[in-house]
Amino acid sequence: MSSTDAIAQKLEKYRIENEKNKDINCIINDLYDSATTKYQKFTKEQVEGPLHGKLFAVKDNINIKGHPTTCASKILKNHNSIYTATAIERIEKAGGLVVAKTNLDEFAMGSSNEHSIFGVSRNPNNLEYVCGGSSGGSAGVVSAEIVDIALGSDTGGSVRQPASFCGVYGLKPTYGRISRYGLTAFASSFDQIGIFSKKLDDLINTFEVISGKDDKDSTSSNFNDDNFQYSESDTKKIKIGVPKEYLESSINPEVKNKIEATIQFLKKNNFIVKNISLPLTKKCIGVYYILSTAEAASNLSRYDGVIYGDRQNAKDIKGMYKNTRSSGFGEEVKRRIILGTFILSSGYYDSYYNKALKVRRLIKNDFLKAFKDIDLILTPTSPSPAFKIGEKIDNPIDMYLSDIYTVPMSLAGLPAMSVPVGNDNNKMPIGLQLTANQFEENKIFALSKFIKNNLN
Ligand code: GLN
Repeated sequence: MSSTDAIAQKLEKYRIENEKNKDINCIINDLYDSATTKYQKFTKEQVEGPLHGKLFAVKDNINIKGHPTTCASKILKNHNSIYTATAIERIEKAGGLVVAKTNLDEFAMGSSNEHSIFGVSRNPNNLEYVCGGSSGGSAGVVSAEIVDIALGSDTGGSVRQPASFCGVYGLKPTYGRISRYGLTAFASSFDQIGIFSKKLDDLINTFEVISGKDDKDSTSSNFNDDNFQYSESDTKKIKIGVPKEYLESSINPEVKNKIEATIQFLKKNNFIVKNISLPLTKKCIGVYYILSTAEAASNLSRYDGVIYGDRQNAKDIKGMYKNTRSSGFGEEVKRRIILGTFILSSGYYDSYYNKALKVRRLIKNDFLKAFKDIDLILTPTSPSPAFKIGEKIDNPIDMYLSDIYTVPMSLAGLPAMSVPVGNDNNKMPIGLQLTANQFEENKIFALSKFIKNNLN
């Protein structure tokens, strides 16, 4: 069978597997037809790249020209993208095919995928549970094996937390490592495109293809490292730090046990595992919600019914803005815009926004200090496995705390990945998070490979 026949078969399999979406509601826009046309074009032009024949799903806050980008919001329900994100261009150049756009919390704000105009995504491991969020749809389609790889976005944990809830790998790269061109802005100093896969090699190959400088994103880094492969003996030299603050707080006992068992396994395999301290851990959620809502309030001001956003008319322009924004945004997005606007108001700017910026720097310093002695930080990804649909929806603070272990790395701009390490007694997945210093994703990959190959 030729390799192009194999791709045709994969597309056919996707069409069949897609039936599962009726239960899980992870795909909100099926791009099967356009993927088939692209595949015919690839065949004619003999596009053969490192992602040849891999099927991708993409979170619906990443633009693909000619297709809707809704951000799961009423305000963008009728929006069609006029350009394509750099990450998608690179995937297609490498032979990958995008077959679906996935569900998310509106504008990527949330941890459960319950804040979506398309309804909640259900966890393929148990349909009564959430997939996590905000990239819940992307984690779910990969977990259900409908596609090989999915892209999401991670501002404070939105790739890692759903990856952990759904039992797949989920990488948030170093800030600046993957171009944000074409990713809808939520909090620009945090946002990063991230990658989900069940197979580590697929994730690493995708990372190699889409990372790197892009002139269309001035914050993208020109750091170039081709050393993605680590030998077994170099891997064994990786020193691991476990911050005591992460296992002290109100963590689910089964998650704690799994993490401790993995630490024991690494020690038995002669890895150096040290206790470390990240003293500002408790401040991270507060700092994140000050800075990210301030940035969100500013970024989302463009949805006013003039260039962006479904216009709701009124007798004057002020009324038009008001009607457009009041009816277009959902409750959680409004909560953040109001909070961010308050934080940026002249009377409070210094006491909240400027102060939080300073604490952010101190949080980063704590990490940099820790990395003088160690190579990787090992923590749980989330304090609990997936929770039930509806369980936290009326309690925003409880929902925000679900990101307590992922937000610190986002504040510090560091790369981190959720690695599946087994299930709880309910058969719901548990994830372990590995964090590296800036641009050291390769160490995360090396230790993850070791865990995958050696932990039963
Ligand atoms: N759950 C976090 C929030 O709601 C993170 C979201 C994200 O990473 N996009 O802000």
